[in-house]
Parts: sequence; C-alpha cells; structure tokens
Amino acid sequence: MELCLSFDNGPEPEATPGVLTVLAHRRIPAMFFVIGEKLRDPKARALAEQARDAGHVIGNHTLTHGAPLGRRSATEALHEILETDALLGNLAAPERYFRPNGGGGALGAHLLNGAAARHLMATQASMVLWNAVPGDFRDADGWPATAHAMLRAACEPMVLVLHDLPNGAMRHLDRFLGEIQDQGWAFRPDPPACCVPLRQGIPGPDFARYISGP
Ligand SMILES: [Zn+2]
Repeated sequence: MELCLSFDNGPEPEATPGVLTVLAHRRIPAMFFVIGEKLRDPKARALAEQARDAGHVIGNHTLTHGAPLGRRSATEALHEILETDALLGNLAAPERYFRPNGGGGALGAHLLNGAAARHLMATQASMVLWNAVPGDFRDADGWPATAHAMLRAACEPMVLVLHDLPNGAMRHLDRFLGEIQDQGWAFRPDPPACCVPLRQGIPGPDFARYISGP
C-alpha cells in the first residue's frame, strides 16, 4: 500500500530540523503544508528552503490557520490564500498545492467558501486533503498507536497528517516510520487521487462537498 506523508503547521525551528533529519536518514519524501505567517521568520523560512532543497514538496496551509475558510468572508479567505502564496514565492511546488485547515482534522463544507474555491480553480491549484489524522498535536505520545490502527484499517492509499510542532510528538517519528517501513508501506511524494478533490484547477466529483457559502 502507498502512503503520502505530510507535515502541517510549521515550519518550527524546534521541530522541523529533527523531522528533516529523520526523513533524510530514512529516504522518505514528504509534503510540508506551511502556515504563511510563520515564513516571515527568517529561521522558519530557511527550514522551508531546506525541506524544498531536500526534495520535499511545500504547500500553502493558509496565512494564519484561523477559522476554516468556509466560515470566513470572501475577502478574508482570499487573503489567507493569496498572502501565503506571496510569502511562499519560490518555495512553492510547481503544482500549486493548497491544504485548508479543518479544525482538528474534520472534513466537510466548512473547508472552503465559494470565493476560495473559485480562486483555487482559476489559479490551477490542487487541494490536498487527508484520510488519517492521528492527533499528534494533542496526543504527543499516543499518536503512533493511533496511526498504526488507522493504517491497519486502510483500504485506499493513505495521506497521513502529522505536525512539525514543538510539542514533543516528533520524538517518536523515527521509530514510527521504521515500523511502517518494515510493514512494507511505500512512500509516495505526491498525494493520491482519493485525497485530491481539486487537481490543477479541475474539480473532481467530490469538490463541491467542501464548499459552503458564497
Ligand atoms: Zn493545520
């Protein structure tokens, strides 16, 4: 089975370097969905550059990671996306990847509003969702067991969401990845179709499910 590994909400100088070291050691590709305003810190930006230079994909995860975009005004939602694109600059992957924030990983119509959806389509962006959120951000020591259970139950390619945040959760990353490598999971650098309802501006049949409001 295939797995696309992603790290959200960074870059964080106290967490991202360790994640990059583990990925390099294990030769595993990943996607990093960064929070735009964090890139204003030169140390954080340098980490995103380091990730890009190591071959990982960098994507847009909104400017402030506030309320999900489906609960914001058109103007606010567009600002969250556009300002992050500007901050990303040459960090962004050629295929412009965007990941909305779901509020604890929930999927639904709260992810986008109409203005954000139209903007993503018009700019040929790809929206990357997920099918495994083991909760490392709230359960720094328990998440590996949760993730193992999710992967055991998998019946489609998986997009696993972890977070390069300084809460201690990533100290388990190397062991966890070793275990799933031993189980035979293959790591892919790009997201599988099941978690990409919008691909290069072209909506799939499920895209409308993630849009609320004008
Ligand atoms: Zn997030």
